[in-house]
Amino acid sequence: MPISDHVAEVREAVAEVRERIAAARTRGGHGQPVTLIAVTKTHGPEAVEAAFAAGVEDVGENRVQEAEQKMAQVSAPVRWHLIGHLQRNKARAATRFHLVHGVDSERLATALHDEALRQSTTLDVLVQVNVSGEDSKGGFSLPELPAVAERLTRMPALRVRGAMTMAPFDAPETVLRQVFAGARSAREALRQSGHPAEFLSMGMSGDFEVAVEEGATHVRLGTILFGSRT
Ligand SMILES: *Cc1c(COP(=O)(O)O)cnc(C)c1O
Repeated sequence: MPISDHVAEVREAVAEVRERIAAARTRGGHGQPVTLIAVTKTHGPEAVEAAFAAGVEDVGENRVQEAEQKMAQVSAPVRWHLIGHLQRNKARAATRFHLVHGVDSERLATALHDEALRQSTTLDVLVQVNVSGEDSKGGFSLPELPAVAERLTRMPALRVRGAMTMAPFDAPETVLRQVFAGARSAREALRQSGHPAEFLSMGMSGDFEVAVEEGATHVRLGTILFGSRT
């Protein structure tokens, strides 16, 4: 496909998604600003450039190596979000990202904190919560969150900006709402321990409207913007 057609398609998809986010935000009544993160994993650098041309300033990648390759190829000044599971041995790369969404264990938190100290910097992170208890998903359970939140206060080089979750694929709306409301309560637990925790990263192509109704501040959208990942 010619580049200009690709850009036009992405622009159209972004416009439609923004309208649907705005409508969901009104319905939900939480009044929160919502950041659209274009998930460009498996797509080339042209997807990042097309998203930026369409006014999207945040992109998400789930693998460090793929993200670093694209960072080297892209000139658009986007903010890079790391949305997937991060292996501890890749912690060094975390500081290249605007926000690390998937802090799913205390060992990873410790590795990230050590790395941030080593680089004399601070790292903005989200704590991943596994509300539904699915084995296939990483993250903390809701009951353990208050204690985890408390221990994270001893890692001052990590700024805990909120919670992130993934809902079960194709779940009925009632389940989606339970999961997203659970993430909201996780954020509350983080705040109770004194973390800033302004953000709620939740909602993908199949469920972002429900997520926004439930208070999402960051939605992570791939398929609906760029088509299916083959
Ligand atoms: C791939 C991915 C997304 C985007 O999923 P779509 O259904 O394509 O919108 C969002 N979040 C995470 C963590 C992902 O890995």
